[in-house]
Amino acid sequence: MSQCVDPIVGKILAGWRYDISGIAPEMCGDYDDHFAACEHCRSRQRLHRGIDIGLIALASLSAAIFLLAFGMIHYFEPRHTILLELVALAGFALSALIWLIVAVATPAPMVVVDAARIGARRVHDKLPEEIRQRLPEELRLRITGS
Ligand SMILES: [Zn+2]
Repeated sequence: MSQCVDPIVGKILAGWRYDISGIAPEMCGDYDDHFAACEHCRSRQRLHRGIDIGLIALASLSAAIFLLAFGMIHYFEPRHTILLELVALAGFALSALIWLIVAVATPAPMVVVDAARIGARRVHDKLPEEIRQRLPEELRLRITGS
């Protein structure tokens, strides 16, 4: 694996889990430059964002499964229905809590929003000019960012 080109900056970035979305824009420049120059930190950043999105996906899946379990218990009414329903609801609540913590504590939602915006821009750029002109001004500003 490649080495960091500037270990001091690399260490700071590692402490932030390679997330610079929360720092002031005027400070971002230096770190953006480092990411541009340093393959090591770039790959670490991708890895950490992958983990964040993986956690969100896992928490969503887990919440969905607990909800499904609750629905099935409610429908089939096995023995100890109330107890099982409570367990399923507790599992759902825990999954929702984990989802919320990951969404608040990591930049995963911003990564997803950025990806969606890039996708929307690509679609927008392929549209014929006359259709593009019909899009509401506000929507166009949001997609193109200018
Ligand atoms: Zn680096």
